[in-house]
Amino acid sequence: MSITCSRCQTQRPVLKRPKNGSALCKSCFFHCFETEVHETITSGQLFKRGDRVAIGASGGKDSTVLAYVMKLLNERYDYGLDLQLLSIDEGIAGYRDDSLETVKRNQSQYGLPLKILSYDELYGWTMDAVVRETGLRNNCTFCGVFRRQALDRGAAAIQCDVIATGHNADDIAETILMNILRGDIARLKRATNIVTNCGDDSEPSDESTIARVKPFKYCYEKEIVLYAYFQKLDYFSTECIYAPNSYRGFARTFLKDLESVRPSVILDIIHSGEVMALKESVRLPPRGTCTRCGFISSQSVCKACVMLQGLNNGLPRLGIGKSSKVLDIRRPVVHKSNKLQF
Ligand code: SF4
Ligand code: ZN
Repeated sequence: MSITCSRCQTQRPVLKRPKNGSALCKSCFFHCFETEVHETITSGQLFKRGDRVAIGASGGKDSTVLAYVMKLLNERYDYGLDLQLLSIDEGIAGYRDDSLETVKRNQSQYGLPLKILSYDELYGWTMDAVVRETGLRNNCTFCGVFRRQALDRGAAAIQCDVIATGHNADDIAETILMNILRGDIARLKRATNIVTNCGDDSEPSDESTIARVKPFKYCYEKEIVLYAYFQKLDYFSTECIYAPNSYRGFARTFLKDLESVRPSVILDIIHSGEVMALKESVRLPPRGTCTRCGFISSQSVCKACVMLQGLNNGLPRLGIGKSSKVLDIRRPVVHKSNKLQF
């Protein structure tokens, strides 16, 4: 590393940026990181003045840095945003209960209102109960479908106009790789777009009407960790106890290997995903509403309701993979504890 910071030429550098290799002092790193996020926000027009923004907060590094940087930029550049923290409690003892304690501390550290919504109150199922029923095979499929709706319902409950999530460049590159490897080109758009759910009917799958934005789309995971470390932010770093040795895990390892020989690979993959156009001939189903819960869905019954029906009837594979296609979804759903009422 050079003797002085490559930006200010005076201070001693403390890191070499994983993104481009430049050696920076602490304050120049903060400046570059924050300015790049600001540029992402302004060039992508992620927010409008007066928007109420739900920051999806898990207590992990990405969402903790996001809450910190959003608050800082909102004040520095006078965005005029009303920031709120929104946490989803999946009901995973020994993991989410501890990470939510971190979010509660962030709430008072940053002075932002916090709303916590649980799977148990929304669906009548905790992830602990789902895993007891399904084992450790498809738990993340349930969890992902439930979280997607839960975030939307939570954001609607606190009257938010937009949901900001902490997805970083590594997450997005992994998702692009996975979609390509699965041949699921139609999903690339949702993975690569910086704003989704903005009334754009070209997105497959169940969606909501609340826009989602990714201010960290171009931020490397390593830089988010370094930012949290040098700012001494309070975040929770334990992995979910049900985190699988999944397809995503293999994609991540593959990406890390590529990154070690070519650091730009993460942004290169995002760029490739962005330019792969959806073929005109690919017809996507129109979006309507779920006849059971009223949530936006491209099917008559949304994925979460199909999965809940399976769970409540002792058929936990319902809605997973191809089984959803042979399901008679007209049967009435029996909600355990009748909690899914909106
Ligand atoms: Fe849910 Fe899977 Fe993430 Fe755990 S690892 S929080 S089960 S999606
Ligand atoms: Zn410097």
